Amino acid sequence: MEANETHDVVVIGGGPAGLAAALGARRAGAGKVLLVERDRTLGGILNQCVHDGFGLFLYNETISGPEYAERLIEDVVREPIKVETGTMVLDLGPDRVLRINSRAGYRLVRAGAVVLAMGCRERTREMIEIPGTRPAGVFTAGSAQNLVNLQNLRIGNAAVVLGSGDIGLIMARRLTFEGVAVKGVFEIMPWASGLERNVRQCLLDFGIPLELRSTVVEIRGRDRVESVVVAKVDDALGPVAGTESVIPCDTLLLSVGLIPENELSKRAGVALSPFTGGAVVDQTLMTSVPGIFSCGNVLHIHDVADWASYEGFAAGESAARYAAGEKAAGGTVRVSAGPNVKYVLPQVLTAGSAGVEWSFRTMRPLRNVQVVVKGKTTGKVYARKKFGRLLPSELQKIKVRPAVEEDLEVSCHE
Ligand SMILES: Cc1cc2nc3c(=O)[nH]c(=O)nc-3n(C[C@H](O)[C@H](O)[C@H](O)COP(=O)(O)OP(=O)(O)OC[C@H]3O[C@@H](n4cnc5c(N)ncnc54)[C@H](O)[C@@H]3O)c2cc1C
Repeated sequence: MEANETHDVVVIGGGPAGLAAALGARRAGAGKVLLVERDRTLGGILNQCVHDGFGLFLYNETISGPEYAERLIEDVVREPIKVETGTMVLDLGPDRVLRINSRAGYRLVRAGAVVLAMGCRERTREMIEIPGTRPAGVFTAGSAQNLVNLQNLRIGNAAVVLGSGDIGLIMARRLTFEGVAVKGVFEIMPWASGLERNVRQCLLDFGIPLELRSTVVEIRGRDRVESVVVAKVDDALGPVAGTESVIPCDTLLLSVGLIPENELSKRAGVALSPFTGGAVVDQTLMTSVPGIFSCGNVLHIHDVADWASYEGFAAGESAARYAAGEKAAGGTVRVSAGPNVKYVLPQVLTAGSAGVEWSFRTMRPLRNVQVVVKGKTTGKVYARKKFGRLLPSELQKIKVRPAVEEDLEVSCHE
């Protein structure tokens, strides 16, 4: 089908990653850049994150989510970037033709390069299969954050939080500020899944208990939640009989994981990683489909927005270069996660690349760790870095300076 218009770079999603990608594309010389956002405003999830803690790396100070978004938006509007809010990308083909819908109607747009920056969504009660009745009062932590912070609504009087992800921790504190009695945060793993600073600042400072190796095994209530049953879990994460206790509450918040929003990527034929839930990318953040790049939470879940923006700048720059005719050499070197490493990114590399930085997460908390990047054929150590402590909640980085010609493995050793 004939496209209605063409752009050098089209960015899908106007959160911290997409805003940075549009800027990165302009800075690398792209003439026509289109930024498409389905929401009425730019900023993505930052708009509902009214707490501070953003911008430590990008702006060297700590600001709120909306302030962080505002700075990027100001930079975007200073550039001749075409911004369309209230506009949704419905489909994307491997030929980089996008089907876009807005109040103005439906149209086809052809892009020299596309940057995927669609963010993520939350796991729901159905996905983790909590037994019990189906009353009102069960929210994902992010939707509760939206209702409280953007719509000024009170969502309940007494709450239990399941899962110790960052959003759950932040919402435990937020609900306390709103006069809701937060009875506790229950986490199935033996460690908190959110950042340590959030455990300290959101739970310990407010006397909210964090129960590890525990989960909600039943939701009770007819019209509204009346109580939840919690229990300890064993090493296989199954509930231990006899450890159940009933907690009266009218609200249950779920902070049980985020899923990269890759429906469009799948439509375009982008290969996804089972470990990140996002695209498999090379060192330029290009996916398996030439000319389609990925960044931010749609690529892998980030702990802080700054990293999503750094990735956005890089993906935008790569997209601009691709659109200008600089073809990528293709990723032939494969990089895999070794012992104690949950995932490593990028997963493929162009042979001969040097100075590449990898992001990785560990499987579990580790102390006195040696991170090693090793050649799988020669056993050559390409990089080694010591860390006092590594937590699965924190995204880490390691740089490999020499040129790489063989498959690599990244591993962590205590
Ligand atoms: C609820 C929540 C709270 C958080 N709190 C903190 C915090 O306190 N501190 C911190 O540093 N980090 C926090 N984070 C993490 C940080 O906000 C994220 O890392 C960052 O927002 C990711 O940016 P993004 O641009 O990838 O995604 P998002 O901010 O989610 O932006 C994605 C955008 O893409 C748009 N979109 C999706 N599909 C389409 C489509 N088909 N067409 C058009 N537009 C589309 C969405 O509407 C959205 O605006 C939080 C994350 C969440 C989910």
